[in-house]
Amino acid sequence: MDLALAVRDVLLVPRCAGCGEPGSWFCFACRDQCEPVAHDGRLALRAAGPHAGPLRAAVRRLKYGGEPGLAEELGALVALEVARDLAGGVTLDAIVPVPLHRLRAAARGYDQAALLARAVALRAGLPLRATLHRIRGGRPQVELDRAARAANIRGAFVAEAGALRGLRVAIVDDVATTGATLKDAAAAARAAGARAVRAYVVAVEE
Ligand SMILES: [Zn+2]
Repeated sequence: MDLALAVRDVLLVPRCAGCGEPGSWFCFACRDQCEPVAHDGRLALRAAGPHAGPLRAAVRRLKYGGEPGLAEELGALVALEVARDLAGGVTLDAIVPVPLHRLRAAARGYDQAALLARAVALRAGLPLRATLHRIRGGRPQVELDRAARAANIRGAFVAEAGALRGLRVAIVDDVATTGATLKDAAAAARAAGARAVRAYVVAVEE
């Protein structure tokens, strides 16, 4: 093959982050493998699928591959779960990203949760309210003594007082592992005045 054509293909043709097939950032075959997950606890959680298989590969590429096109397609999967809830009678007023610490985002060059949330907001037709800020970069909990640990968990996020007053919000992140980060972000959203919080992620660890 002509080298210029080969280079063009590598640069311009999207490849599925799940299986490598050219043509899209996340192909239909891989989408078909995603079984949406719904957890209804104190914080309702929806995911496009378990953190496994092609979805796990796609999330890894989103986090470490620097591919905004992938955020669009994975955001579309998350937006489907938002749409499913809206069709089921849930009311949402705004989409709120669960942000990286700004230093970590700066080191990575982007914040994948912010990109995802923007894609979800556009597709769901809801306003984006980037009101949460992470004030800790996720220092390993084991380093902290008990009192400091409790403070860390409550204090990982801050939001301006009243920034989400009266709103029913959907917080958006890439992966739910233990759920601690989402609970923490939800607490910060409530502290900022949100009257209802639901969580939406691409993949959930099961
Ligand atoms: Zn695929």
